[in-house]
Amino acid sequence: MKEITTKLLVIGAGPGGYVCAIRAGQLGIDTVIVDMAKPGGTCLTIGCIPSKALIHAADEFFMARGMAGSGNKLGISVASPAIDLGKTIDWKDGIVGRLTSGVTGLLQKARVKIVHGRARFRDGKTVEVTTETGDQLIRAENIVIATGSEPVALPHLPFGGNVISSTEALALRKAPERLAVVGGGYIGLELGTAFAKLGSQVTVVEATSRVLPQYDAELVRPVLRRLMELGARVLTDTSAKGLDDDGLGLLVEANGATETIRADKILVTVGRKPRMEGWGEEELDLDRAGKFLRIDERCRTSMRGIYAIGDVTGEPMLAHRAMAQGEMVAEIIAGQKRVWDKRAIPAVCFTDPEIVSVGLSPDEAKAQGIEIKTGLFPFAANGRAMTTASEDGFVRAVARADNHIVLGLQAVGQGVSELSSAFSLAIEMGARLEDIAGTIHAHPTRSEGLQEAALKALGHALHI
Ligand code: FAD
Ligand code: NAD
Repeated sequence: MKEITTKLLVIGAGPGGYVCAIRAGQLGIDTVIVDMAKPGGTCLTIGCIPSKALIHAADEFFMARGMAGSGNKLGISVASPAIDLGKTIDWKDGIVGRLTSGVTGLLQKARVKIVHGRARFRDGKTVEVTTETGDQLIRAENIVIATGSEPVALPHLPFGGNVISSTEALALRKAPERLAVVGGGYIGLELGTAFAKLGSQVTVVEATSRVLPQYDAELVRPVLRRLMELGARVLTDTSAKGLDDDGLGLLVEANGATETIRADKILVTVGRKPRMEGWGEEELDLDRAGKFLRIDERCRTSMRGIYAIGDVTGEPMLAHRAMAQGEMVAEIIAGQKRVWDKRAIPAVCFTDPEIVSVGLSPDEAKAQGIEIKTGLFPFAANGRAMTTASEDGFVRAVARADNHIVLGLQAVGQGVSELSSAFSLAIEMGARLEDIAGTIHAHPTRSEGLQEAALKALGHALHI
């Protein structure tokens, strides 16, 4: 068996693993990265990027449809728009291809050795990799586990046939006439909205009392309103019970009553779980935190020399958290004094309208016993929002009442994902309401809503 000895071995080339390997390579650390699939992981190949491509195509098609026939209020009309979803998927695959080869190029530039195959621990310092050309043994001083996550299946609705996960949904070459979505979280609502715009009749089945339970009700309200406008049905407090006999009906139950929802495809999006199998966890002695690997503030596991990053380590399962952990771990292995000291991890939901949240919501701050000031500025009073014919939503600021340090910033509205960097920066830099209010925000932009929300919290908003 071929053998390699290295200072650092990274298992998994998703956003966590590939960023860790690139940074380690930049720091002169002898690094090997192993992945059984294409570099880029879930995010680049079947997650963030493909879903955002589909969402964009659906938006464009929907906009064109809105202009069909008699035209829209902007005075634009187009004749019979149509979409060839197969072509859209080819375009999306092209983007994925460019990004995955881009990651390969970045790893090579950083002099990282890439091994294509399935990795499996033999012991805490040795990993066996099954490759197409035979097995390889890799001995490493430090090993980073970045094996990511996979979709949760429901026992009574296993994946297969018409029951699909996000991976298959992102490869459909024709929009299903009727789509049932089980789970009204991130994926269910992002993709459910996209398919509703592509012409599918969408029904969302959510087990809890409201969709997107990660966000507060005020933020989610405009998203629900839009889903209704798109003709989607949203059933809350409803559980999926299984398929009916012909496989084209989803049996659901709410308050003791059952219903069958006819559906050509059933998209199950009830969460993701850490990938804990297939890499030899049983050969090690790693502590767990619930279903995840337990890590400390330096991403160290309970075994010396073994680190873990990304989705395998816990919530929030987001690409930018995985990347930040990966960068930090590479620097720790290089001997730098680093510790996880981030004040906040931004969260964005790419629904229509988009939601962004950084730091604490008003309820979360109150639950911590903090006395707060809040300011909410509606996009209905923002000139730029009016010029884009999309005025629904708002920006909200949450700050400590005593010293005005900003604890949280949230927004819902068209394109607000792009406000996430300003929100994160403000919180990371420890900004006060006065800092945001005193910063000149370019006019006309939606970002003026941030300044106005801060002014509102201070009691002197200018444009409302
Ligand atoms: P992953 O990206 O899952 O990568 C793990 C890698 O490890 C994989 O390439 C896998 O092949 C490899 N691997 C596993 N086991 C082995 C083994 N034994 N040997 C070799 N290789 C192995 N997050 C966001 O921040 N924004 C979004 O907009 C967003 N949208 C999403 C949309 C969808 C549909 C999905 C499914 C997810 C989305 N996410 C989003 C979540 C995001 O994809 C994950 O948080 C991110 O990919 C986690 O990165 P990771 O490096 O931990 O793991
Ligand atoms: P999720 O946790 O966001 O939502 C799952 C939803 O399913 C929840 O609302 C939950 O109450 C519901 N649910 C659970 N069991 C159910 C059942 N039996 N019947 C009906 N509903 C049920 O999970 P997801 O949408 O699968 O996404 C997984 C993860 O991927 C997210 O948590 C997030 O970390 C990541 N992601 C992020 C983005 C983004 O950042 N924009 C986009 C997509 C995915």
